[in-house]
Amino acid sequence: MNIILMGLPGAGKGTQASEIVKKFPIPHISTGDMFRKAIKEETDLGKEAKSYMDRGELVPDEVTVGIVKERISEDDAKKGFLLDGFPRTIDQAEALNDIMKQLDRDIDAVINIEVPEEELMNRLTGRRICPKCGTTYHLVFNPPKEDGVCDLDGEKLYQREDDNPETVANRLNVNVKQSKPILSFYDEKGLLKNIDGSKDINKVTEDVISILDDLK
Ligand SMILES: [Zn+2]
Repeated sequence: MNIILMGLPGAGKGTQASEIVKKFPIPHISTGDMFRKAIKEETDLGKEAKSYMDRGELVPDEVTVGIVKERISEDDAKKGFLLDGFPRTIDQAEALNDIMKQLDRDIDAVINIEVPEEELMNRLTGRRICPKCGTTYHLVFNPPKEDGVCDLDGEKLYQREDDNPETVANRLNVNVKQSKPILSFYDEKGLLKNIDGSKDINKVTEDVISILDDLK
């Protein structure tokens, strides 16, 4: 079962990924983890990736793609994988296709967790933090008892720069632009499965699992 997981920031991709790997015997392969592993194990590609990162440069596609190939060829991924954060470009998607052909495997589904951008804005801009004790609140999901102050010490809560509406909107726009062509790419191949991620989180998990059950 070779799966790609997609979704905008705040869509709940991380939660769904951990539910999927609880239920199916496949590893969750995120790009970040993959890079960290290759660098830690000092593989040739890991060293190459690190040299770009150390210079503050983007890791070129051929290195990233090589690291993906190494990772999905490992024993624990032979029966399948859940790929998260890759591919990010059409070139990478094409390269992944080639890798799968070389390995005589196929991508079975691309799960896209869809949440309207307005809802994502609510989710992503609602976080408030206590400067004194570090407790995190959310205006909608986990509000403090009294507006704007910490339950524990009465300190005035603040919003991180990263969470302000303008920054969040920019981040979402960049991600939408980036993911659109990838989603169309897989839609044309009949692999795209859109999941309504605005539902209750357990219902979303149910929907994801039921799609994956059908693939078996
Ligand atoms: Zn506090």
